[in-house]
Amino acid sequence: MERFEVIVIGAGPAGYVAAIRCAQLGLKTACVDQWLDAQGRPAPGGTCLNVGCIPSKALLESSELYARLHHEFRDHGIRAGRIAMDVGAMMARKERVVRELTQGIVQLFQANGVTLVTGHGRLQPDRTVAVTAPDGGITRYGADSIILAPGSRPAEIAAAPLDGERIVDSTGALSFDEVPRRLGVIGAGIVGLELGSVWRRLGAEVILLEAQEALLTMADRQVAREALKAFGAQGLDIRLGARVMSARVKRNKVEVVYQDADGERRERVDRLIVAVGRVPNSDGLCAAGTELALDEWGYIHVDEQCRTNLPGVYAIGDVVRGPMLAHKGSREGVMVAELIAGRQAALDYDLMPGVVYTQPEIAWVGKSEQALEADGVPYRSGVFPFAANGRARAAGETTGLVKVLAHAHTDRILGVHMIGAHCSELVAQAVIAMEFGASSEDLGLMVFAHPTLSEALHEAALAVHGEAIHMARRRKRRVE
Ligand code: FAD
Ligand code: AMP
Repeated sequence: MERFEVIVIGAGPAGYVAAIRCAQLGLKTACVDQWLDAQGRPAPGGTCLNVGCIPSKALLESSELYARLHHEFRDHGIRAGRIAMDVGAMMARKERVVRELTQGIVQLFQANGVTLVTGHGRLQPDRTVAVTAPDGGITRYGADSIILAPGSRPAEIAAAPLDGERIVDSTGALSFDEVPRRLGVIGAGIVGLELGSVWRRLGAEVILLEAQEALLTMADRQVAREALKAFGAQGLDIRLGARVMSARVKRNKVEVVYQDADGERRERVDRLIVAVGRVPNSDGLCAAGTELALDEWGYIHVDEQCRTNLPGVYAIGDVVRGPMLAHKGSREGVMVAELIAGRQAALDYDLMPGVVYTQPEIAWVGKSEQALEADGVPYRSGVFPFAANGRARAAGETTGLVKVLAHAHTDRILGVHMIGAHCSELVAQAVIAMEFGASSEDLGLMVFAHPTLSEALHEAALAVHGEAIHMARRRKRRVE
């Protein structure tokens, strides 16, 4: 039986990063992954690279260019001839991007000396790993430490059974062969909003049915309100408090029945995306008798440093508690690799940025205003709108705002929330400031290049003390 110092099960952003870091730290490492592309070739990268972050961003980029060409170029004095959308070419580009990145991981594994084992890995009671290859052959491997990173898959609901053509999950929605005339989306979470945006920009009439009464409850409520306004203006028809009860294909259409405050309602759409969350891939991961502890929802139970109840076995990424985000899993992967190598390592989950890649983009880090209120933390808020930012005006990207929340007594920044163009990039500045324990005054004292969107963060920090320069009205808020 071949032995490694570390075996990682799963090569998504949690597992492949863990494997590379282990190898960098001098550990003999193997990574087991079962993902194959359409040609049957290994495609490490997991959900993120194959059917998640990367293909969705490729389509968001293509559809954004198309929408801008339609709606914004004229304003810049640019006249184009007949504009047409070739969905097939857009999908081929997306596939190319995915393929380049998954093969990039194969190369990174080779360069770092990580052994990629293709197949389904199963943890055994004696802490070995049995791998079932695509041809059905089973090989056992031994390891001193094992990292479980099997990720997650789209949740399904009995009310809307998938048929793979008209009723699809997020994976199916990344591969439509034409723009649906009328598209329904169940769930206005991050995935539902991003995929709904792609097809809306390409011309579909999009209806999002969301069971909750508010949009994006994990975001700051002021930002979520702005988002609802902006999406409405784009023609995304978001219906809150709308719980889908059933969806059935009837004569090439999908008939959706949902319940809202006024009773039962119906919609007929050409396609329906079920985007109601994701479930952890903990089933099929362990042979009988392994005794790995799971919680009631199927997440692997871990401590703050991702140790499971089994000695020498760790779990990271979507399969454990915390937000289902690629960068969260990757950081956990690095932390666990360093712990295995005998180093000190920890992760501050309070400073995990969240991003919604719609247009405008939404991003945040730290506590929201409603969370601070609920915890009874005294705070001040500084808000600066992009409409008052020179670069945003020059670019025609005036929707949105930046909000800085700082402790009322110490001035330490507790949360930064933003909605606007390029916020997925801007939020990194807030993460850096908060990691260094910055106060709003610290940010206010720094020099930000002009004209940049980053100046909105600077002004929002100044606004915490009513000192923003480019704002006629002071906005100050204090909760004791
Ligand atoms: P995964 O990426 O799911 O990878 C797990 C891997 O393990 C897979 O390859 C799987 O086949 C393999 N595997 C599972 N079980 C076994 C086994 N027993 N043996 C062998 N292999 C196994 N997150 C962001 O941060 N930013 C985004 O923009 C973003 N966009 C998204 C868009 C969409 C449409 C979706 C669906 C998700 C998006 N996410 C995004 C979420 C992100 O994809 C996940 O949080 C991330 O992929 C989780 O990483 P992971 O490594 O834990 O698991
Ligand atoms: P997320 O977990 O962020 O991907 O979001 C999934 C969203 O789907 C949540 O906001 C849920 O409220 C929503 N949801 C789940 N089930 C239903 C349903 N039957 N009808 C409408 N919305 C739903």
